[in-house]
Amino acid sequence: MDPKRMTRRDWMRVLGATGLATGAGALAGSGPACADPAQRKDAPRGVRVAGPDHPPAILRDGKVIQPERQLALLHETDVLVVGGGPAGVVAALAAKRAGVRATLVERYGHLGGLWTGGLVLIVIGHIVTGKKQVCQGIGEEMMRRLEKLDRGICNRQPGRNPTVDAEALKYVMVEMVMEEELDVFLHCWGVDAIMEGNTVRGAVFESKSGRQAILAKVVVDASGDGDVFGAAGADHERRKYHAGLVHRIGNLDQVAKDAAKPEARLLGSITPVAGVRWVNMQGPDIDALDVAELTKLELNARRLIWRNVEKLRQTPGYEKVYLMETAPQLGVRITRVLNGLHWLKMSDVLGGVRFPDVVAVGGAWNGDHQEWQIPYGALVPKNVDNLLAAGRCISGEPLMSDLIRVIPNCFITGHAAGAAAAVAVKDGCLVRDVEVPKVQKLLLQQEAYLG
Ligand SMILES: Cc1cc2nc3c(=O)[nH]c(=O)nc-3n(C[C@H](O)[C@H](O)[C@H](O)COP(=O)(O)OP(=O)(O)OC[C@H]3O[C@@H](n4cnc5c(N)ncnc54)[C@H](O)[C@@H]3O)c2cc1C
Repeated sequence: MDPKRMTRRDWMRVLGATGLATGAGALAGSGPACADPAQRKDAPRGVRVAGPDHPPAILRDGKVIQPERQLALLHETDVLVVGGGPAGVVAALAAKRAGVRATLVERYGHLGGLWTGGLVLIVIGHIVTGKKQVCQGIGEEMMRRLEKLDRGICNRQPGRNPTVDAEALKYVMVEMVMEEELDVFLHCWGVDAIMEGNTVRGAVFESKSGRQAILAKVVVDASGDGDVFGAAGADHERRKYHAGLVHRIGNLDQVAKDAAKPEARLLGSITPVAGVRWVNMQGPDIDALDVAELTKLELNARRLIWRNVEKLRQTPGYEKVYLMETAPQLGVRITRVLNGLHWLKMSDVLGGVRFPDVVAVGGAWNGDHQEWQIPYGALVPKNVDNLLAAGRCISGEPLMSDLIRVIPNCFITGHAAGAAAAVAVKDGCLVRDVEVPKVQKLLLQQEAYLG
């Protein structure tokens, strides 16, 4: 069949035949889900529901009261990882590969966090002085898998900062969690911690299934925003920082250089896809835990980006350029930061301080300083048990934020948290009492670099 002449109905038939179409009809292999309603025999089947799904909130004396209720148990696991960004995916894989039950929960419908959904495609901070690559382990395995895909990654040469394709990386992450038979729940938003005294016993999630609980022996907070340790009452700081919306522009290989006035210039940064570049946005300092501020920034940024690209399209030579995509996920850099057993300091980074409980070795922006050690205590809360932080919300002074939050430094702290959680489960101890040499041994077995 000539693809140019295919009708929408033809496409639906092809997708149905390959199992790619959406909707109940397609999953059952019974043909397109959008056929003429008058011809259809498989209309949705319904069950009549009387009364609310759960006791609703009550307005009493001008106050909104949530009545006490028992929550349904969605799942029970050894290690529960909340947040499916670079830190969370690596943490869950590390725990599962160590031989315990691990569960990964993500609020959106894809994995990768800001790396994919935020379109933050360039991996900065995996190298140090002398172009040595220090960030290794499961995150590095993702890069190697991307190399095997057409247009999966570019600039993978030693000493350079590679850039990934968001769709290829989402695919790689799905492959890895499915190969490992990890328990995954998407579309589940962690809204509360489950506490027994000072010990975290799981988390509460809100989804289309309602409010449900997952019980766990250890919880890893990889939400980026410290949503679980915030709810659990762990000592932490709330910070304001730049937040922005990233976007991708297409057809940049079709700029008519001769006609371009002013002279053709390179917009944004390279991606593995020809003619497509991604454009970063610094954005204003906001409290990204404030929904009104998030909304204002998102609306303004979307309007600004559209108008900028339209202006560009009216520039001679740039007529074919178009806005391909704005990031589905707003680019939030820093919000809650744990005040853990160890507080990472820039003076330690620059002084090359070494720690006996090292569980990760971080890289530098553009390889412009030496490697630095991350001790286990930077992941462990002071006043709450059986909870670990991973990724951009681990414990450190404000000056450290820009170093802690880069993608490779997030996947190595995720790796450390997942490994430590698995050791705690196997040894039946609190995460603060974990024997760190056992964690180090496991990390080395999983090809992490510890200096
Ligand atoms: C605009 C911008 C530009 C950047 N540029 C670079 C760069 O050039 N190079 C670089 O290396 N780094 C860059 N970064 C930093 C980097 O992208 C992030 O710091 C990194 O992705 C953080 O990883 P993470 O796993 O800790 O958190 P995230 O990537 O934020 O992932 C957290 C995940 O948890 C999920 N989640 C959050 N809350 C909940 C909840 N309550 N319940 C369930 N799931 C939840 C989120 O949906 C997300 O998937 C940039 C960041 C921004 C915002």
